[in-house]
Formats: sequence, structure tokens, C-alpha cells
Amino acid sequence: MGGRDATMVLLDENGIRCDGRKVDETRRVMIRAGGLKNADGSAYIEFGDNKILVGVFGPRDVHPKHMSNTDTGILRVRYHMEPFSVGERKNPAPSRREIEISKVIKEALEPAVMLEKFPRTAVDVFIEVLQADGGTRCAALTAASVALADAGIPMRDMVAAVAAGKVADTVILDVNNEEDQAGQADMPIGYMPSLGKITLLQLDGVLTPEEYKKCVDVGVKGCKDVYELQKKALKDKYFGNGGD
Ligand code: UDP
Repeated sequence: MGGRDATMVLLDENGIRCDGRKVDETRRVMIRAGGLKNADGSAYIEFGDNKILVGVFGPRDVHPKHMSNTDTGILRVRYHMEPFSVGERKNPAPSRREIEISKVIKEALEPAVMLEKFPRTAVDVFIEVLQADGGTRCAALTAASVALADAGIPMRDMVAAVAAGKVADTVILDVNNEEDQAGQADMPIGYMPSLGKITLLQLDGVLTPEEYKKCVDVGVKGCKDVYELQKKALKDKYFGNGGD
């Protein structure tokens, strides 16, 4: 979230946002399970103009060996943005932001993955952001859950994610890049819909207690919608055309 851009109309007098959406509307979401033949599991997501590919490997031997845990498996996540994924070329070296996002996605996935079933092994999740437009950590977390399920890794639930936020003193669902830059708050939320548990909650910006509660409510509702699309992606791959 950046400073306010006075020239940008984030919400017009009819309650319509800068990209034509209503306040409680997500961008178009398309999720595909599978696609990478050399990965154990994979997924591709388009979340508005975000385009993200995820490959999952494992459970497999841990290298270096000292990182392994005799009591449980470990999850490793690498979130990486391609230099061409944003308007201004990104340095290909891992940035502090990418290291932070890798960590928060790992911590958001850990409660969902039954790592205790695979002691001494690692499950590796590689996230490649091909095109970014605000909300990549949520889109990546959503796709990573589908890729883990596609890899056949036992899970308690999938994590669905979307950001809530505030623009023009109004709570909105699914913050895009312009809203992130010029808006007042951005709250990425990761949620396990079947278990009813939040596994990711960050906040950039300032909210009143009422706005905070409203953002969580709106965000959780958005996650439930995203969850349906995650399940559909898996059904499409394994049962064909969403049938079951
Ligand atoms: N972004 C960018 N260059 C960068 C990093 C980010 O243009 O080096 C853009 C990108 O569109 C990203 C957005 O800024 O989606 C918001 O980034 P943030 O750190 O808030 O994470 P995100 O919302 O993607 O999870």
C-alpha cells in the first residue's frame, strides 16, 4: 500500500471501483490443476491479471540432510517473481519481499498439510509469478493448495485466499494493484473453509475496529467463493468437466 494518489478515482458516486467492479466483487478467477509433467503436483491460476504457476515436489529426501526432522516432514516454499512480471523490470535476485512472502505462504499452508505422516522428508513448493497485478500472495497461496492436493499430499483442508481492504473509506473485496498503491488498507486473508480457520492474516494500513471486523467477514466470504473454484479445478482434472 502506498501514498494516496489524488488523481485516481478509486470509487465513483455509484459505488463502482476503478476496474468496474462492485465493492464485494472479486476479479475473474480461473484455476487449473496439473499441467507440469515433471512435477508431482501443479496448478496454474489467473486471478484478474495475476498469472501464477506452482509446482510441488515430494515428499522426498531432504538435502541438506541436517534440515530434516525425524518427527515430521518439512514444507519449503519459494515464491519468485519473474523479472518481466511487473511494469518495471524486477531484479531476478531474491528480494526481501519475496523471502517474506515465501515465509508467510509456508506458514499459511503448514496447518493444512499433514506433514507428520512423512517424517524425514520435504515437500517443496515452487511458485513462479509470471504476471503480477496486486494480490499475488493470495493467488499464489490458493494455487499452491491446489498443487499440493494434485500431488496427492494428505491435507486437512485447502487454504483459499483473497485480500480485503479499504478505499475511499469503504471496505472492498480483492484489492487490485491500483487499489493497493493508492488505497487506505490491504488485508490478505488465507482461510480453510471446511475447518473454519484463518491461516494468513496481514494488514497494511489503518482500520477502525469495525472496519477490521468487516474486512475479515468480507475476506472470509471471498475465500469461500475461491474454495469452490479450487475444488472445481481438481474435479475438472480428475473427473472431467466438474462432474463427481
Ligand atoms: N509489485 C511491483 N514490483 C515489485 C513488487 C511488487 O510492481 O517489485 C507490484 C505487483 O503488482 C504486486 C503489487 O505490487 O502484486 C503488490 O505487492 P505486495 O507486496 O502488496 O504483494 P501482493 O499484493 O502481490 O501479495
